[in-house]
Amino acid sequence: MTELTGKNAFVSGGTRGIGAAIAKKMAEEGANVALTYHKSQDEALAMVQEIEAKGVKGLAIQADAMQAENVVQAIQKAVSEFGAIDILINNAGIAELKSITESTLEDYERIENVNVKAVFAATMEAVKSMPEGGRIITIGSINADFMPFPGGSLYAMSKAAVKMMTQSWARDLGDRQITANVIQPGPIDTDMNPADGAFGETLTAMTAIKRYGKPEEVAELAVFLSSPKASNITGSVINIDGGMTV
Ligand code: NDP
Repeated sequence: MTELTGKNAFVSGGTRGIGAAIAKKMAEEGANVALTYHKSQDEALAMVQEIEAKGVKGLAIQADAMQAENVVQAIQKAVSEFGAIDILINNAGIAELKSITESTLEDYERIENVNVKAVFAATMEAVKSMPEGGRIITIGSINADFMPFPGGSLYAMSKAAVKMMTQSWARDLGDRQITANVIQPGPIDTDMNPADGAFGETLTAMTAIKRYGKPEEVAELAVFLSSPKASNITGSVINIDGGMTV
């Protein structure tokens, strides 16, 4: 028996980066895994193969998080295939840096829809049938509390919103022994924020441990929070940032 044997997990944005690492680790720990994607169909199908090679069920669902209805339908599909979702990982997100002097209302709508409204929509639908002891984990960002560079206002707004929303769900769902927690990564080496990209050196220098984090390190934390060992942790916000914010 592994940590998550028999559980059903749903990971939004499970094709690349942090979401892919979480999906793989959940499968290794015995969970069936449904994952969503936007454009990366080949990667999504490859992920399903990789998940099923670990002896659990995998399911890839195309769902553009810009459209909340798509997200609701994706949850419904996973529920109809798996029975219910025990572990919801709200991971899919976008990051765009733009000063307020250049930002538009369209920029606001895009970030708000993908990073906030889709998280609300997925959780709203998933908790309808989430069993006792369920888990909600939202991947926020240290930028909810900390903004060391210009252009981050909309991203920070979105991550601050999901932080407080997720903490509030801990109150809504506590009587069902469902926990709701926020993981706030610092710089993690993914397509969104490559360690060898334009910001790599600057961000690395700001960490205490002088390196980017790895998606697999975030996945370890997500698995721990999903496990029975973490049943008394709810409403928590956990930074995984190599000491960037100390
Ligand atoms: P990546 O850009 O590497 O991967 C993003 C994932 O989200 C992909 O699976 C992508 O699917 C999916 N996605 C993007 N847009 C949409 C959409 N409109 N609809 C559905 N799915 C979508 O990102 P990371 O792994 O780096 O980031 C994951 C989460 O972690 C995000 O919420 C991000 O804000 C957060 N985070 C990341 C940090 C970092 O340094 N990397 C730091 C702090 C927080 P597809 O492949 O199909 O496009």
